[in-house]
Amino acid sequence: MADKKNFWKSLKDYNNDPEFLKAKTNEFVEGVTDDFNPEEMKGLSRRKFLALVTASTAFTAAACSDYYDKGEIIPYNKRPENGLPGKANFYASSDRNGNAVLVKTREGRPIKIDGNPEHPISQGKISNTGQAAIMNLYDPTRIKSPKKDKKSTSWKTADSNIIDALDLAKGTEKKIAILTHKISSPATVNVLNDFIQKYPTAVVYSYDLFNDNNRRRAWEKCYGNSVLPSIKWDEAKVILSLESDFLAREGDITENIRLFTDGRDVMKSSDFNRLYTAEGGLSLTGMNADYRLRIRPDFQFDFVMALLNEFVNVKNSSAIQLDNSIISELKKYNLKDLITRHNLSQEKISYLVNDLASVNGKSIVYAGDTLPEEVHSAVNLLNEVLNNSAIYNFTNANVNLGDELVNTDMDSLIASLNNSEVEVLINLNTNPVFHLAAEYNFAEAAAKVNTIVTLCETPNETSDISNFVLPINHDLESWNYFKTRANVVTLQQPVIAPLYNSRQTEAILLTWLAGAFEEYKEDVYHKYVQSEFEKEIFNNSNSAADFQTYWYSSLHDGFVLTESKVENKSSFNSDAFVKSTKVKTDEDSFIVHLQPSYFIGDGEFANNGWMQELPHPVSKITWDNYAAISPAAAKALDVEIGDMLDIKVGERELSLPAFIQPGTAEKLVCIELGYGRSVIGDVGADAGFNANVLLGKNNSSSYISSAQVKKGDGNHELVSTQEHHAVDDDFTKDFHKIRNIIREGSVEQYKNDPEFLHHDGHKIFSITDDVEYNGNKWAMSIDLNKCISCAGCATSCNIENNVPVVGKDQVAVGREMSWMRIDRYYSGTPEDPEVSGQPMLCQHCDNAPCENVCPVNATNHSEDGLNQMAYNRCVGTRYCANNCPYKVRRFNFYNFRDHFADSFYEAPVSSLVNNPEVTVRSRGVMEKCTFCIQKIMDARSEAINEGREIKPNEVVTACQQSCPSNAIVFGDSNNPESEVSKYRKHNLGYHVLEELNVRPNVTYLAKLRNTHSEDA
Ligand code: SF4
Repeated sequence: MADKKNFWKSLKDYNNDPEFLKAKTNEFVEGVTDDFNPEEMKGLSRRKFLALVTASTAFTAAACSDYYDKGEIIPYNKRPENGLPGKANFYASSDRNGNAVLVKTREGRPIKIDGNPEHPISQGKISNTGQAAIMNLYDPTRIKSPKKDKKSTSWKTADSNIIDALDLAKGTEKKIAILTHKISSPATVNVLNDFIQKYPTAVVYSYDLFNDNNRRRAWEKCYGNSVLPSIKWDEAKVILSLESDFLAREGDITENIRLFTDGRDVMKSSDFNRLYTAEGGLSLTGMNADYRLRIRPDFQFDFVMALLNEFVNVKNSSAIQLDNSIISELKKYNLKDLITRHNLSQEKISYLVNDLASVNGKSIVYAGDTLPEEVHSAVNLLNEVLNNSAIYNFTNANVNLGDELVNTDMDSLIASLNNSEVEVLINLNTNPVFHLAAEYNFAEAAAKVNTIVTLCETPNETSDISNFVLPINHDLESWNYFKTRANVVTLQQPVIAPLYNSRQTEAILLTWLAGAFEEYKEDVYHKYVQSEFEKEIFNNSNSAADFQTYWYSSLHDGFVLTESKVENKSSFNSDAFVKSTKVKTDEDSFIVHLQPSYFIGDGEFANNGWMQELPHPVSKITWDNYAAISPAAAKALDVEIGDMLDIKVGERELSLPAFIQPGTAEKLVCIELGYGRSVIGDVGADAGFNANVLLGKNNSSSYISSAQVKKGDGNHELVSTQEHHAVDDDFTKDFHKIRNIIREGSVEQYKNDPEFLHHDGHKIFSITDDVEYNGNKWAMSIDLNKCISCAGCATSCNIENNVPVVGKDQVAVGREMSWMRIDRYYSGTPEDPEVSGQPMLCQHCDNAPCENVCPVNATNHSEDGLNQMAYNRCVGTRYCANNCPYKVRRFNFYNFRDHFADSFYEAPVSSLVNNPEVTVRSRGVMEKCTFCIQKIMDARSEAINEGREIKPNEVVTACQQSCPSNAIVFGDSNNPESEVSKYRKHNLGYHVLEELNVRPNVTYLAKLRNTHSEDA
């Protein structure tokens, strides 16, 4: 018998060192658990760590039916029934605005938020910020326990002191001012009503930096009620969008995108809708227009009135009978004069007028939220004149809760504060110090209040001036139900126990209402929500089931459908319209248009690296806001991109960098808000400029006239992920079309010649034989007719695949890590550009040029057609990146998680966001899109377990899952039943740079512009 080999691990082991032999008898090496001491885990107390672990148990226990309301928490020493380690669970829930979500958890830890596919509005989709909200849950800067005068305190002390202050206010009849944002939950409204019952001096004020108040007020004046219908975008053949970014920043954007792009689906019909936009700054909606008119927001009123005059008086074609007073008012506006005065295209306006007249009721004119009430009233009349009522949807109208409860007049709040009428000020997750106009001087006014209480998740400018700061739960830790539409109620359930010593906002209020800190119970609001839901929803449901069954089944689905009680609008009120005053304009000076940021919101997402780093959909700038001006204005002001501009409106001043944005109207400066936060975590620190300082008191619209604009001192580096000068650079101009990267045609051209794309095809030669793929062959198609460049796919990819945030300095040197980018190309002129967008990712080429050059075979081809990466083998030569014609490979120059923002993404809490199904890559390694290999493997393992083949459309990639327009399709191209195989055969299908014969597996469908045949 051969000698038994003596394996040894070290010289100490080989020499039988006594210390080593002793250590071998211990199961754990000394110190091995040191890093796992929850007491030392930054920001995670032992109590909360245990809560986290035990909560994991409860969620897994609940996994069988996708709702959490299972009662007791049991230890994890026995695997809960149906909870399988390594297997994801999904829970239906909602964010605080009532957007329905589906949350993926692994071992009790939420890792991804998607839309709820069953929900009638969401239909499985959610915005960029909705997805990125998962990072806010794990943000290490969250407040971990209550604070009094900036020092940690107990809930007992905080509650007792605040209850005393509230009682004092009641006794002395001084005001209690509660400041909130828009409320979408009937249960929250009831809590606040209960609060007013107990404390009659309480007044609930409400503000939102961006809102639809003007639209709502105009509707109320025109039709007598403020319930706004939603829009059947899919039924409109012609859409005129006036300064409205309805595809990205207004209303329920995922629903808007889905319905709008439904009218541009080549698989269904080639009769596309036609989108006209009239706007000052180039928006994402404007990028997608068939015809775009460049006009300042303050000229929109004249434009709508001139259109009305054209239909009513010139063409004599109004669908409704109008009063003489209106008819004579309209005669003051003339379309021809307007075209001349604002240098508009006569041809485009003629097309617009003829199209609106010809579709007879199948059009919609839609004004943007930032336009004044008078424009919205005029638009309501224009839709009446055009007979567009059938495009309004009253069944799922937008519900506005709490109208009777809240006071939206900030002037009156500030006056009360300044007059020392307020004893207690309570900010319910609001940040008025940052949001409200500088002229209000909110911080100074609030200093006259004895007790300021701020309930928030992370420190902000208002918590900084507060006596008490109370940490509140994240949406994924909360209970509620919401009513945002007339026919649907959306439920919110926690999918994880609170990570910190935080409480839900309503539970805090209920404790104060009970009058003693001991009254707080963890389930106080859970029970309240259940009881309100029973009274309001279940009792009106005619359900045959008992309440518990109804409740569990509603939680499981995440929503219930209810009967819509909204009535169709009444007839148009002419009197109200005539009384509306003309909007004043100052044509000769600049106006400043303040707009919502695409991804930062009102500043709520300023500490979210994914949102800061996601390139602006139009400018492609990251980590900053700027003053967008036209090329002509830049010339007149003698500024280049990045030069500081000094902007003055009355006494309000701001300096920020200029950005020359093609397509911007003259004498217009567009600035996005939400940036420049002064009290924020490491991620959002120093990002952008606080343009809220330009806001005026109670601004009814967000453009400001009579601005002085001049070149300032110095400059500021603006970092973009795409070149700045593409539209007027002789070398790069129209490169994308010359090289057939973007292929386009018109609808008319396609109808006349469906094969038009392939007449000039290249003859492809190959010196090698084709490889045969006999099993699955994975492929993707992207329909550029449906893609609107929203970047939802890129966000989803970043989150699913643990793509790191690198920070502004690294983006500046081209080291962003995003596996998926949305390329934006201009053609035409800088004044009137045409824009094309294209999601770009690894094309998984059959003849992949990156594979041939890898010296260690780290990148190679799989049997099912994937261009795959073995991270462990990669030595970082970067030859593959050099050889990739699509520039989609990314190199880890650093361990970016550690490198960026003081190791923000490697903190014990923030790293919980990582998807355990995807390797976290380290320094020196190349990476790129994998076609979500983890999802393919998951589907394969399911299929093997069930003894079947993978179904043709079974694998859904992360980008496909989130795309609100369903532009992305993935599947097995070898299976003729798969959707992707049909797209690949479509006569609009093409491959980018196909002449290189790299044989990509991503097929793009060429974009058809629905222009008039004369333009084809
Ligand atoms: S493909 Fe991407 S960018 Fe285009 S619409 Fe879909 S999610 Fe948005």
